Amino acid sequence: MFNSILIDKDDADGYRAALQQMDEAQLPDGDVTVRVLYSTLNYKDALAITGRGPVVRRFPMVPGIDFAGVIEQSDSARHRVGDLVVLNGWGVGETHWGGLAQKARVNGDWLVPLPNGISPRHAMAIGTAGYTAMLCIMALQEHGVTPDKGSIVVTGAAGGVGSIAIALLSKLGYTVEAVTGRAQEATFLKSLGAAEILSRDEFTAPGKPLVRERWAGAIDVVGSRVLANVCAGMRYGGVVAACGLAGGMDFPATVAPFILRGVTLAGIDSVMCPYERRVEAWRQLAEHLDLAKLDQLTEEISLADALRVAPALLEGKVRGRVVIDVNR
Ligand code: NDP
Repeated sequence: MFNSILIDKDDADGYRAALQQMDEAQLPDGDVTVRVLYSTLNYKDALAITGRGPVVRRFPMVPGIDFAGVIEQSDSARHRVGDLVVLNGWGVGETHWGGLAQKARVNGDWLVPLPNGISPRHAMAIGTAGYTAMLCIMALQEHGVTPDKGSIVVTGAAGGVGSIAIALLSKLGYTVEAVTGRAQEATFLKSLGAAEILSRDEFTAPGKPLVRERWAGAIDVVGSRVLANVCAGMRYGGVVAACGLAGGMDFPATVAPFILRGVTLAGIDSVMCPYERRVEAWRQLAEHLDLAKLDQLTEEISLADALRVAPALLEGKVRGRVVIDVNR
């Protein structure tokens, strides 16, 4: 038997998530069984647990788009018993049982070996949020945005993707301008490496198609008007990595930044990202992320606590990242 969060939905009792004891025989098909050591609470997990977004596609479902653990049984040529691995995405926690449990059974092709120097706990402090921050930075680099080109604006700065993006960008020598709705987090954001703090209010009203050229690069987790206003303020040839919708799925913008300033909008998806690119993102995280800063932006909770913290995360009240010790 093992502990797990289980989400279920039916006409009689509606949508519900609870801590449950499960039998290993209930685990889904897969060629690798993992003893989960740590998981995490991402924005998507919070949507799944609360039912506020259509994340879960099959019921009953174990949520958790991430986990880190040790391989307990393997029929996969890629992995041996005892290997430490990390999983992000691939529909886990959406269509296939996920990481908010003490055990998981998955397709071995979804698992990335934990890079040297990253513990299972640190891997989950990073989680999909941090791995996505790395994918965003890789996109900026691949489009030629080097630190000498100008500063990078990061929206949703005090959240998971934002806070790790700031820590990584500052380590890589970029000047970071952090957009936040929480002025009280200015000291925290500066300690991660932000050079300037910008108020979210500056970005939430309908803006002009083009405004003063300010940034060479952007990482946006918010979407909607915030993304439109970021695009309008990009420098000539600037690059915007768009990965989130914390402020809305719409994009009320014009084509002006793209056709008059040659701005590039780079879409970032972590879920179906090819294996080799994931391995490269994790290699770069191991190389560039300051683990002391990661510890500073991480809070640890128990499996049962995930039910309580999920609504707070969606309300923008959680700072940085939340690690879940599934064994307490
Ligand atoms: P968090 O909840 O940790 O952070 C989101 C931050 O966005 C908040 O902390 C807040 O920052 C800001 N925010 C929240 N609500 C609003 C709002 N209504 N308007 C403007 N800003 C707001 O989430 P994550 O960082 O984990 O994820 C951020 C987004 O990225 C989510 O939409 C998530 O689904 C998406 N995502 C996408 C991935 C992909 O593969 N494309 C992978 C991972 C995440 P502050 O208080 O500083 O303003």
